Amino acid sequence: MADPGPRRSGPSRRLLGVRIDLHTHSTASDGTDSPAELIAAAAAAGLDVMALTDHDTTSGWAQAVGALPAGMRLIRGAEFSCTAPDGRGGNLSLHLLGYLFDPESPAIGAEQTRLREERRRRLRVMAERMAADGYPVDPEVLLADLPADAPAGRPHLARWLVSAGVVSSVDEAFQRFLATGGRYYAGRADTDAHTAVRMVRHAGGVPVLAHPFAPGRGPVASEDVIAELVTEGLAGVEADHPDHTGPDRERLRGLAAELDVLTTGSSDYHGHNKAVRLGQETTCTEACERIEAMASGVGVVAG
Ligand code: AMP
Ligand code: FE
Ligand code: FE
Ligand code: ZN
Repeated sequence: MADPGPRRSGPSRRLLGVRIDLHTHSTASDGTDSPAELIAAAAAAGLDVMALTDHDTTSGWAQAVGALPAGMRLIRGAEFSCTAPDGRGGNLSLHLLGYLFDPESPAIGAEQTRLREERRRRLRVMAERMAADGYPVDPEVLLADLPADAPAGRPHLARWLVSAGVVSSVDEAFQRFLATGGRYYAGRADTDAHTAVRMVRHAGGVPVLAHPFAPGRGPVASEDVIAELVTEGLAGVEADHPDHTGPDRERLRGLAAELDVLTTGSSDYHGHNKAVRLGQETTCTEACERIEAMASGVGVVAG
């Protein structure tokens, strides 16, 4: 039998050699590769299709399109920070990936602007709390160093703490200082998840729930919450994600089959901010084709 080459992990991949990673971040949000560097890194990692999904912004799209090499395809998207009732009187945090939506949608534009302002407000509160406890953090400089419309995130504060020698890694910063619910943590007024699903659909996009069962980010969504979002138009769930265990993935595949939605697999690459590799998790060709067929906002860009 002929050597199938290094890409052995799925039948469609072996047949077609297509590698698809549908969740990545650039410097347009909290990654460390510029959109152009990210595209180059994706090509070097052997990806054929990549989605750019920065938090709460589409500002990296143009540079990514400009950097696309021949043969590679780009799915333009974003990751929306959302909240939903947890069914026990509280709220939980959810991340919604929106693919191929119209970036001119007034509703999406207004909500992304609001969220970016909310992100700055909240990061300032966290930085002020650390400064008040004597840590060498200057909230003004931290925020001034970020581009004016960049979605400020905890990784930015984490990298400050690494540079200041307070911690030796972004991960340590999260564990010691920035964890959800910890002493320095401040919450954000995120988008209602139902509203976000409808908003992405109205803009011709395809909404997929990011890492639904990842722990360490607070309580996770129940099957009921996910089922409700499907009635609003949720098209899929990210099953293969570095933060999901094997049983999590199986449960999500079972749930997706029951709800008749698709499953994706993605690295959630953030450059040096996270120890994951591009293409570490991948999406099958069929799911990617379904996303493309469902979308009417913008098209997939071919390099
Ligand atoms: P925020 O959006 O400000 O709430 O920050 C959450 C971001 O921090 C997400 O994009 C995560 O990918 C990232 N993050 C969460 N935990 C860690 C960690 N332990 N190490 C590095 N990045 C993390
Ligand atoms: Fe992030
Ligand atoms: Fe996320
Ligand atoms: Zn992400």
